Amino acid sequence: MSRASGMAFCEKHFLEYFDRKVRRTLRRYKLFGPEEKIVVAVSGGKDSMSLLHYLLRLSKRVPGWRVAALLVDEGIRGYREYTIERFLRFVEEHGVEYRIARFRDEFGYTLDEIVKIGKERGLPYLPCTYCGVFRRYLMNKTAREMGATVVATAHNLDDLVQTYLMNVFNNDWDKIARLGPISGPGTHPRFVRKVKPFYEVLEKETTIYAVINGLYTGFEECPYARLSVRWYIRRMLNELEERSPGVKYSLLRSLQTAIRILEEAGRVKTGDEEEGPYTCAICGEPSAHPICRACQLRLELGILKL
Ligand code: SF4
Ligand code: ZN
Repeated sequence: MSRASGMAFCEKHFLEYFDRKVRRTLRRYKLFGPEEKIVVAVSGGKDSMSLLHYLLRLSKRVPGWRVAALLVDEGIRGYREYTIERFLRFVEEHGVEYRIARFRDEFGYTLDEIVKIGKERGLPYLPCTYCGVFRRYLMNKTAREMGATVVATAHNLDDLVQTYLMNVFNNDWDKIARLGPISGPGTHPRFVRKVKPFYEVLEKETTIYAVINGLYTGFEECPYARLSVRWYIRRMLNELEERSPGVKYSLLRSLQTAIRILEEAGRVKTGDEEEGPYTCAICGEPSAHPICRACQLRLELGILKL
């Protein structure tokens, strides 16, 4: 049952509705070409498992598509090990090519250790800041090594409007300009294009899709999630949506208008926030600055061996 659209569905009709909705996004924004190696960024949570399941099914009808999966293991005790288990069960059962990229292997430390070092050094960052910067970095690098022509992420409408509001509060219009369904191809050849097939799908709908397809076998919450601003905004938006259904769709339309106005003002860039015209002088990855954000953070943490 979708209260925002005022429609109620049985299982079969829900899946048809879901498929129509996602395919409309794929067509409208031309997210994929006829020949693609799609690497799906998977956390093992319900949204990304749904995306992997959905794109695998769709790829059976598109001969030029190959679908692989990439999980970034940040190293969060009491959380990530459970989602990895679910991920491994799925990829092995479906014979999907996959990689697990670990913070520990790339940076020498898990996220838990990084958070501890940051605290000891008195750095002002929240765990999600380290997590987001290092995850985007590792995702781009590993997907490129896997031969990806595109990375699909499971950001849904709820994620998008939460990020939109967070950036409105920060008055950060450059970040808002990057909230379209496609990032890239940008200006750097080592940057892999990123797309969001669930851009117009509510989180509630990806949850129903996951439940129907047996992908939702438990709910784990990252122990750091409640420290983030996003957590409060998410709760606030869910309450608002309860009171006046359709608020999230209105916010998406507001975001799309903002992007159009920013586009007309020449402020829309095609890459993501880590990408830019530079090649990081330390690690050689694409960067918005002469030294990339991941290396800047590693320097501040004192975990970069030069
Ligand atoms: Fe990373 Fe924050 Fe998400 Fe946890 S809640 S996985 S720390 S971004
Ligand atoms: Zn770097």
